[in-house]
Amino acid sequence: MEFNSFQCRICNGKLVPGLNEVRCSNCNFIEHPVKETNFKINTDELKRKISSREDFLVLDVREKWEHSLVNISGSVLIPMRELKDKINSLDKNKLIITLCHRGVRASYAARYLLQNGFKNAKYLEGGIDAWANKIDNSLRRY
Ligand SMILES: [Zn+2]
Repeated sequence: MEFNSFQCRICNGKLVPGLNEVRCSNCNFIEHPVKETNFKINTDELKRKISSREDFLVLDVREKWEHSLVNISGSVLIPMRELKDKINSLDKNKLIITLCHRGVRASYAARYLLQNGFKNAKYLEGGIDAWANKIDNSLRRY
């Protein structure tokens, strides 16, 4: 899939440049937020959260074929382009940790959730590839 600078990272919609930000005309994703926050989590932190059975959701935003190839047990799959329509199925008060192959798509997805009233959203740095490399070597890499 190819992206260019005028396409929305979430829905492939059209980005409309404004005064301080570039906003998607379809899903309202803000491409360049005025205020950036740190919202990543690394594999060790995620492992700790899983081990201590913290209450959170791993949201996989990859495509269906990627998810069937390899996934983190218990994760919920909502491919990126379905996120806009399915966002209301997610609990805004729960910690959501987004996941993709290497972390790029997931970072946009987490930012999108934060822009849409989610109290706590983070993305897994390095994605499932880092997870397979550092935490669970039994997982298939692609
Ligand atoms: Zn969009």
